[in-house]
Amino acid sequence: MKGSAPLLGLAETLEKVRGTPSKKEKVRLIAGFLKGLEPRDAEVAARIASGRSSERGSKDEAQVGYSTLLEVLKEVTGASGQEVSKIYLRHGDLGEVAEELLGRKREQQLFSEELTLAALDDAFARLRSTKGQGSAAAKRAIVKSLMLAATPLEGKYIVKVLTGEMRTGMVSGLLEEAIADAYGLPKDAAARAHMVLGDIGTFANRAATGEASGARIQPFRPVNFMLAEPFATAKEIADHFGKKVFAECKYDGIRAQVHKSGREVRVYSRRLEEITPNFPEVVGAFEEARGDFILDGEAVPFAGGRPLPFQLLQRRLRRMEDFEEAAKNAPVVYFAFDILLKDGKETVDLPLSERRRLLGAVLAGSKARQAETFDVTTETEVQDAFRRSRDQGYEGLVVKDPGSGYAMGKRGSGWAKLKEELDTLDVVIVAAEYGHGKRAGVISDYTFAVRDGDALKTVGKAYSGLTDKEIDDMTRRLKEITVKDFGYRRQVKPEIVVEVAFDSIQRSERHDGGFALRFPRIKRIRTDKGLAEIDTIEKVEKLFAGQKLKVDER
Ligand code: AMP
Repeated sequence: MKGSAPLLGLAETLEKVRGTPSKKEKVRLIAGFLKGLEPRDAEVAARIASGRSSERGSKDEAQVGYSTLLEVLKEVTGASGQEVSKIYLRHGDLGEVAEELLGRKREQQLFSEELTLAALDDAFARLRSTKGQGSAAAKRAIVKSLMLAATPLEGKYIVKVLTGEMRTGMVSGLLEEAIADAYGLPKDAAARAHMVLGDIGTFANRAATGEASGARIQPFRPVNFMLAEPFATAKEIADHFGKKVFAECKYDGIRAQVHKSGREVRVYSRRLEEITPNFPEVVGAFEEARGDFILDGEAVPFAGGRPLPFQLLQRRLRRMEDFEEAAKNAPVVYFAFDILLKDGKETVDLPLSERRRLLGAVLAGSKARQAETFDVTTETEVQDAFRRSRDQGYEGLVVKDPGSGYAMGKRGSGWAKLKEELDTLDVVIVAAEYGHGKRAGVISDYTFAVRDGDALKTVGKAYSGLTDKEIDDMTRRLKEITVKDFGYRRQVKPEIVVEVAFDSIQRSERHDGGFALRFPRIKRIRTDKGLAEIDTIEKVEKLFAGQKLKVDER
């Protein structure tokens, strides 16, 4: 492994990155470190800094369980289980446990060599390819040799990568910036190259060799998906576009990017992981299709002309070996709605209307379907399309601007989604804030709470759903019931009950209820209800548990 840079340099840099709260400084540190590296080392370093041990989109991960890591650490350092638990409790982070324990390493390798970035990358590759019978022991041996060779600081970061708990605050955007700075790439070019290459390591490598600007979308290199902006009502959507647009059915399945080159078809998930083996029907659907392409769409459980509950995909996502049985229970149809590459040409910058035409031609030779689309302009038309989609068993609509490009990795304003709410909750307003822009001067942001025994616990903040007149009335009432005035924010007497709709529930530290409703909007002001009748935290927990399955799968 001659020629590769020592791992220690990266570990020391990451330690400094972790130690500074300044984003600018984090970027400067990483950029400075990358500058001196060979392209291959820059690739490995960038990937590790992002907390990954393998290229994005690769089928295999170098996964090593907590228990294996703990066993190896005990073996290498002579620490007892009790000692390890104590140290773990103190840090709550296995990487830091490794650092502390390795500081008193017992078994020393006789001719211990310096660990290099290339050597670590090679060990990760071996961990990935170690599968099947006897793999546990083989993986353990690889981890053990790493821990024997590592200094405490190196051990810490190796473990952090293996457990997926990097926690340096070096988020993908900052890393991209650091790579751009290190190799003098303009911001836009860096963002585009990173997007197209998908993987931060590959991007760093190309940037180091000066080839990043020429990066093109390619089969078997997944790119980030375009996302839709949520809208609360058909009216908001019609107002947003203000012209004739495409309203597509919103399918409830697994977002999937299908890549075909020659006779080979591969399928990638929203996290850009390869999921080809989980969806043999999707691969089968494109067997006869001609040409090379990359499509975006949704793999939907579907039988007898109707979608089946999303939950039926659960077995095949978790247990690949059962897929034949799973495919019987929940056959999957691929509904394609976009095309990103056709026969070597990028199509992402073409208008959607043109992409749809190309998509239609590709799908004609396949067993996949094209997403159903309605032309809509007015609120009533959006509402009708929504109903039709719901009547067919779909989730709602994704409304798209025919002139828009495919914004990779962005929640672009070209796509707007409208779906039936997960549920509604009756909540009470406990605090409120003045709005911005056209809502300046009125109190339009409402923090709301549910009941937890005798206490009130906040679970979200809503700033949409009311008419201008309702907001004016609300402003007046909130001023009357203000308990404490903090200027832009007011704590109010908990007496205004509103019914909020929302898309999903997330765990949250921002609200003292421990949950946050996602995309909450006020459906109506419940003048008929009082504080005693609002919903409880137990109901929120129950709804959260019910939707968790789906969020996990995604
Ligand atoms: P949500 O999961 O509610 O945030 O809605 C966005 C998701 O809807 C996307 O990530 C896709 O997985 C899915 N989807 C279903 N049908 C479509 C469609 N026709 N166009 C775009 N996305 C769709």
